[in-house]
Amino acid sequence: MNYNKHLDDETLEKMQNILKFKQKKSITDIDLRNKTVLVRVDFNVPLNDYRQITDARRIRFTLPTLFYLHNENCKIVVISHLGRPGGKKDERFNLLPVYKRLKEFFPLTTVYRAKDCIGPEVEQMVKKLNPGEILLLENPRFHPGEKANDPEFARQLAKLADIYINDAFATSHRKHASTYGVTEYFKESGYGFLVEKELKFFSQALSNPRRPFTVILGGKKVKDKLDVIKYLIGVADNIIIGGGMAYTFLSAKGYNVGKSVIDVSKLDDVRSYLHESNLNGTKIYLPVDVVVCDELDDPTHVEEVPITTIQENHMGVDIGSETIKLFKDVLKDSKQVIWQGPLGVFEKEDFENGTKEIARFLIENKIYSIICGGDSAAAFEKFGFQDNISFISTGGGASLALMKGELLPGIECLSDKEEVEFTIVNTIAQKGIQR
Ligand code: AMP
Repeated sequence: MNYNKHLDDETLEKMQNILKFKQKKSITDIDLRNKTVLVRVDFNVPLNDYRQITDARRIRFTLPTLFYLHNENCKIVVISHLGRPGGKKDERFNLLPVYKRLKEFFPLTTVYRAKDCIGPEVEQMVKKLNPGEILLLENPRFHPGEKANDPEFARQLAKLADIYINDAFATSHRKHASTYGVTEYFKESGYGFLVEKELKFFSQALSNPRRPFTVILGGKKVKDKLDVIKYLIGVADNIIIGGGMAYTFLSAKGYNVGKSVIDVSKLDDVRSYLHESNLNGTKIYLPVDVVVCDELDDPTHVEEVPITTIQENHMGVDIGSETIKLFKDVLKDSKQVIWQGPLGVFEKEDFENGTKEIARFLIENKIYSIICGGDSAAAFEKFGFQDNISFISTGGGASLALMKGELLPGIECLSDKEEVEFTIVNTIAQKGIQR
């Protein structure tokens, strides 16, 4: 294991977090035969104005877990949130579209839909299930107790089943009743196959990276990603910054960025990370030229300019051609990439080029890449590249949490394996850590 910096205790502890899932029970560690299982999934799928699902990947990816439970003759009780109904019943967020699609995946199995996720009526429906059948519960976010992680609401949920399985990777960073509190009331709980797959990709990539290891950070929410940078300085070899994030960095370095998005409150943090990265051997790469426009929605002026000449009334919306060359040059030797956040406003055709070019480059050069965050995944979908890249994570916030070295609450709360083989953590602590 090679790292650039001498890792302090805090970083060491954080590195152990990503490996801790190995201490937890997986679906295959639990005797599930003929049991009633509450399985938390993340079916928070995108819907169009007619409430039709535009991307069913989140449902498809949980099928290995659901098929496995079906084959184990379990009564399968499925729970997922959808959107943000704000703790009250709101039919705009019911799970009907999800139910319809789920049924299509199980043509030979009866799939039922409950009107709620707790209460006597739901309990009766669970009792009447035959082994192998599925009951989809209604959105737990119709209850204020879900987000508040209310113990009584969690207890009501837990009453429905014998065993709890978490296969909602994308929600595992949340301490909600159905992802966290509920496990208090189960004797046994574990993670499903999707969670396992995601955690295996991230733990390998972050605890034992193929080098050179390059992280690409884009998007516009700087605050979310600064802790990632702090943690990855010393761990990654290169950090490429693009998208809206880049302008806070450019501004911190003294460039005029006009109307581009920046987070003024983070300028000092950014300066200190730029300084720290120099000391710890992680190279940070910023754009050298950008595409600017006067208005995002209806631009009358679009041009590519060096970062030294961004006008006061212009905003940067994509990386420029020299920057694309520079980033490709860094990426061409990389053996592993983690990419979170698009490099421009890719939703608009005029400003998608940087994201598309870099995505194509990774694919054409077969560079091992993990893509995370809803917008990056959407960009790959938009370009039709989704099947050609190593791995697209279903988690945005959850993958960011892992990249900050955080322990995911939805994993932490699961049952421990009886025999823990966890020498690997000690190995990290003992072997150091210097390159
Ligand atoms: P985030 O949630 O932080 O990953 O941000 C994703 C959003 O950032 C996408 O909707 C992009 O359109 C947007 N984005 C990317 N580059 C820029 C930019 N230069 N200016 C403003 N928004 C951007």
